[in-house]
Amino acid sequence: MKAQPKASHFVNGEWMEDTAGAPIEVIYPGTGEVIARLHAGTPAVIEAAIAGAHAAQGAWGAMRPVERSRILMRAVALIRERAEELAQLETLDTGKPIQETRAADWPSGADALEYFAGLAPTITGETIPLGGDFAYTIREPLGVCAGIGAWNYPSQIACWKAAPALSLGNAMVFKPSEVTPLGALKLAEIFIEAGMPAGIFNVVQGFGAVGAALATDSRIAKVSLTGSVPTGRKVYAAAAAGMKHVTMELGGKSPLIVFEDADIESAIGAAMLGNFYSSGQICSNGTRVFVQKGIKARFLSRLAERTAAIVAGDPLDDSVQFGPLVSAAQHEKVMGYIARAQAEGARLVAGGAAGNQGPLFVQPTVFADVTDEMTLAREEVFGPVMAVLDFETEEEVIARANGTEFGLAAGVFTADLARGHRVIARLQAGTCWINAYNLTPVEMPFGAVKASGVGRENSRAAVEHYTQVKAVYVGTGPVDSPY
Ligand code: NDP
Repeated sequence: MKAQPKASHFVNGEWMEDTAGAPIEVIYPGTGEVIARLHAGTPAVIEAAIAGAHAAQGAWGAMRPVERSRILMRAVALIRERAEELAQLETLDTGKPIQETRAADWPSGADALEYFAGLAPTITGETIPLGGDFAYTIREPLGVCAGIGAWNYPSQIACWKAAPALSLGNAMVFKPSEVTPLGALKLAEIFIEAGMPAGIFNVVQGFGAVGAALATDSRIAKVSLTGSVPTGRKVYAAAAAGMKHVTMELGGKSPLIVFEDADIESAIGAAMLGNFYSSGQICSNGTRVFVQKGIKARFLSRLAERTAAIVAGDPLDDSVQFGPLVSAAQHEKVMGYIARAQAEGARLVAGGAAGNQGPLFVQPTVFADVTDEMTLAREEVFGPVMAVLDFETEEEVIARANGTEFGLAAGVFTADLARGHRVIARLQAGTCWINAYNLTPVEMPFGAVKASGVGRENSRAAVEHYTQVKAVYVGTGPVDSPY
């Protein structure tokens, strides 16, 4: 199996290679086999990308918005035409089951491009009457934005960042995670095929140092990171030194609260989706499942039954529902959390071992009787490990759900909609669901509070984060001066 791109980077509308960069081996997590060999960006590659983006952005930003949109819409059409080929590549890059990558990754990316292509031409300033004189505002692009991605949804992340940035007249230099470098290169190629000018979307591969070089360059106006909280703190600090705009989409330990009156099969389905989809490697997962005591036994027995029926195996097989983790490092980390949960006294209800389908598999795992102090209830595992905690009252569960530095997402299952809204109103989270979980349509803002991040992706809210306001005062009479 091979998925070797023509070169490691895509800069100024062309493939670019510099073999002096540190080697990057891309594996297919389904088997551990090497499918591509790339090199990290050297200072020369990073310079070419930033300089190229900087030179191209002015004309792109000055274009009529509908003309930019037309190009983005052509890219959307190409992505949809090539849906199967792109899904296959995403599965090779990430190890996620083909049934997921067909439904979620590039399709969600295409939605974002389509949405912002439609929205951008409608963005206008305002006129402010001042009794004769007046003022008006212009929404301007920021300039060159750096996008830095995580490895769990590599193509979706690239599209979610590129869509608002490019449609609103910015250029972008995107650094994928070195674990999953392939999808962003496809996006860069598709943009050029769709007629985008060279230099508007560039991809530079690399490790953290490449991201850091982007976050500190004076020509970069904004940094949008999807990654962990520790990386977010570093990148935010580096961006602050240069007074740059930021969007930080970071990790979580989100609560999913199931009240006794909930539709139990739906709540279990949501808890499984919010812990096992993408083998649990999703930032907004509901990894602390609070179940009200009266339904605990029923909830756990049906959950164990449904978890045992999950079909794990070769991610390229149509019938497979559950794949491996993305890398050996992630596998080791997740197995460590499972061992620690057992050592700290959590009760294993399902899974708990490495899977036998390949070197990077972990069984979908459920722990019950998890308490708030256990490591499993406090740290982000980023693997298929669900923690079920008991609770008795609404007041109690709200306080416990909020007892974390994270604040990305939250969910509530209840038949009592008044309670659903009441509880959600008090939860400290940026992205919430009532009787649903982990659905992130582009029309809805996505983002976090507390340590899980700042800024919002998707929806109209993202416009604020990729434009800035220029205010213009217009005098219509003689200047009234005391001098
Ligand atoms: P990391 O934080 O390790 O890395 C994220 C990206 O930042 C990578 O491209 C990484 O490069 C880069 N990076 C690392 N150090 C620096 C630095 N000092 N300056 C600039 N860039 C740097 O996250 P993972 O890739 O391991 O992804 C998993 C994390 O992402 C989880 O915490 C998860 O919750 C979060 N996430 C958040 C989402 C959200 O929208 N809120 C969505 C998806 C994931 P390299 O890989 O080479 O180190």
